[in-house]
Amino acid sequence: MAEPASRPVALTGIKPSGSPTLGNYLGAIRPALALALARDYRPFYFIADYHALTTIHDGDELRELTYEIAATWLACGLDPQDGVLYRQSDVPEIFEIAWILSCFAPKGLLNRAHAYKAVVDANEQAGRAPDDGVSAGLFNYPVLMAADILSFEAAVVPVGLDQKQHVEIARDVADAVNAAYGPVLRPPQPLLEKAAETIPGTDGRKMSKSYDNTLPIFAEPEDLTRRVKRIVTDSRRPEDPKDPESDTLFRLYRLVAPPDATEALRARYESGGVGYGEVKEDLAVLLNDLLVEPRQRYAALMADRSEIDGVLESGAERARAVASGVLRRLRRAAGIGR
Ligand code: ATP
Ligand code: MG
Repeated sequence: MAEPASRPVALTGIKPSGSPTLGNYLGAIRPALALALARDYRPFYFIADYHALTTIHDGDELRELTYEIAATWLACGLDPQDGVLYRQSDVPEIFEIAWILSCFAPKGLLNRAHAYKAVVDANEQAGRAPDDGVSAGLFNYPVLMAADILSFEAAVVPVGLDQKQHVEIARDVADAVNAAYGPVLRPPQPLLEKAAETIPGTDGRKMSKSYDNTLPIFAEPEDLTRRVKRIVTDSRRPEDPKDPESDTLFRLYRLVAPPDATEALRARYESGGVGYGEVKEDLAVLLNDLLVEPRQRYAALMADRSEIDGVLESGAERARAVASGVLRRLRRAAGIGR
């Protein structure tokens, strides 16, 4: 397919740091695929395997999780003819660009990055040294993420609220580079879908592979149902009026139920007359129905990996074509090489 040069890039990445979750699906995959359908952007999707290396130190596990994330994108409907799906590690240009960017990223800015600050805060609360367990890789993560984005001249990055600040850091770093060399990099914009900003996990905190609170989308249906039943609620009885907005079950329900069912449930919450047990049953059915087709496709892709391998190989080639152009420009500007 001929690529109109004017179509700006939309870029989405997921770390293979655990099995894909409903938070990844509703917060990143579904909005990114919806955006691709509109055809206003050229979609780039990547599996951030070198990012996952900050937490996964078992080679077999990382390789397997990388396949899982690739299969997830394809099973959820990614069109590999239109979009470019690639493994971050297959594009070495990103890492050379990351070094250049690190020479422009103020350390003080990285000190304030959410992912790093969250670890420092947890350490301080537990009475440990602030940097306990923090690798240089974790600290530099926003620089590598800036390289992920800027290497492909991404105009927009659809993300959940948890990643908004990291996209803003990429923007700041691009501005700093452009201030030195003129307009060599394209500063990106985060793209947030209001309804899916923060998908709650089973404990009510942000659903995250690194907390044990996820609904893994490709778990067996019975397992998913079991996990839905473990979602923490308050102790209100069925007849009590309840606040839908502060209830994890309702917040998940409205993301997957038709609008009229959501409004009907909202009314029953507010007037009293619905028990959390009933909502859990309904939510589990909705989720399992939504996932019937993706699960079949996912199982087939994981059983024979050759389709994934082929897509990733072609993706790497197409991704490198873009990143190598950006790297060339950047090296020339910086006075690296002849
Ligand atoms: P980790 O705990 O290892 O950080 P994660 O589940 O947060 O894993 P990421 O790979 O960091 O997953 O994020 C991939 C994408 O999914 C990002 O765009 C992120 O904003 C989105 N995302 C992840 N969790 C949520 C969530 N709970 N709500 C909304 N979006 C989310
Ligand atoms: Mg995350």
